[in-house]
Amino acid sequence: MRAAMFYEPGDVRMEDVPEPEPGPGEILVRIGAALTCGTDVKTFKRGHPTLIKEVPSPFGHEFGGPSRRSAKGSKIGGPACGWWQQIRRRATVATTARSGTSRCARTSPS
Ligand SMILES: [Zn+2]
Repeated sequence: MRAAMFYEPGDVRMEDVPEPEPGPGEILVRIGAALTCGTDVKTFKRGHPTLIKEVPSPFGHEFGGPSRRSAKGSKIGGPACGWWQQIRRRATVATTARSGTSRCARTSPS
């Protein structure tokens, strides 16, 4: 699959990378649409302490598209909250920080 990979501030490359296997509680999404935001600009200019933990690293964090598959035994669907949401066969990510106190924060995978 193709991915934007971050190497260092100012160095993001489009590359062919192996398709990842979803882990427990994760789903694999074919990106149908992606956005850039202020965090992406800041990350491109100076890196990011939590989004980029090692390099090279996939770059970007706002996207949605059809879900491909989930980890064996993972629960898919249910309440539309958490780090990812799936409605039928499409998914998107929640891009806001969790409060840690709401129902969504308490019940979504970390
Ligand atoms: Zn963002």
